[in-house]
Amino acid sequence: MRRKLIAGNWKMNCMKENGLALASAVFQKCQQNAPLPFDVLVCPPMSLLAKVAELPHTGAAIGAQDVAETTKAEGAFTGDISADMVVDLGATYTLVGHSERRTMHHETDAVVRQKAENAMKAGLTTVICIGETLEERETGRALDVVAAQIRGSVPTSATADKCVIAYEPVWAIGTGKVPTNHDVAEMHAKIREELTHLLGAEVANEMRVLYGGSVKPSNAKELLSINHVDGALIGGASLKAEDFWAIAETQM
Ligand code: PEP
Repeated sequence: MRRKLIAGNWKMNCMKENGLALASAVFQKCQQNAPLPFDVLVCPPMSLLAKVAELPHTGAAIGAQDVAETTKAEGAFTGDISADMVVDLGATYTLVGHSERRTMHHETDAVVRQKAENAMKAGLTTVICIGETLEERETGRALDVVAAQIRGSVPTSATADKCVIAYEPVWAIGTGKVPTNHDVAEMHAKIREELTHLLGAEVANEMRVLYGGSVKPSNAKELLSINHVDGALIGGASLKAEDFWAIAETQM
């Protein structure tokens, strides 16, 4: 049985005051509604990770948005933060391979896979993001592109408890556009099939596959009821505690 995961990616948003207020409001909801029938994850910017992790957060996990590519825990890598440092700050999860990293920072599948390996080795549950561009969708290549991203980005050592996949069509991120239910179902089934080839049926059947891209309170229930959709990765709507919680609440 795959337990749903409701994850918020704050991206490069929130100064200290706003960020701590947002995190506190989400954690309060988690506490008030404990025990929750799903997992909650909050991924603040690195600047707030330690402070957010210091807040009481029973029922919610804290994650980073990225980790360094180097396998070293410490060293001469200016500006980088290793997976071990993320653990040291109190996080238990990280994202890797978000499309904004893949496009703006030119991260390839190989880089994403290395980061995922580092994160899992450090003990972090790692959310590996994949997804096609609009051009790839419109030219009928979405399924192949995403299958190739799985083969390239997911370490063969990945286990269901330490790895989560997030399918995020690039054209749906922050645009208000979402794929049809048919397209989401087709893609998630394809992802499960590719994971089965790569990791075996047992691991693939237990691994959570999230949907991300313009998830809102108004569409969350429907998207999260699609077969093989095991939760949501939420950007914009995770910046308002009421909206994030309204999405989570659809799974109560
Ligand atoms: C994201 O960036 O991971 C995301 C899904 O953003 P949004 O919810 O704003 O589309």
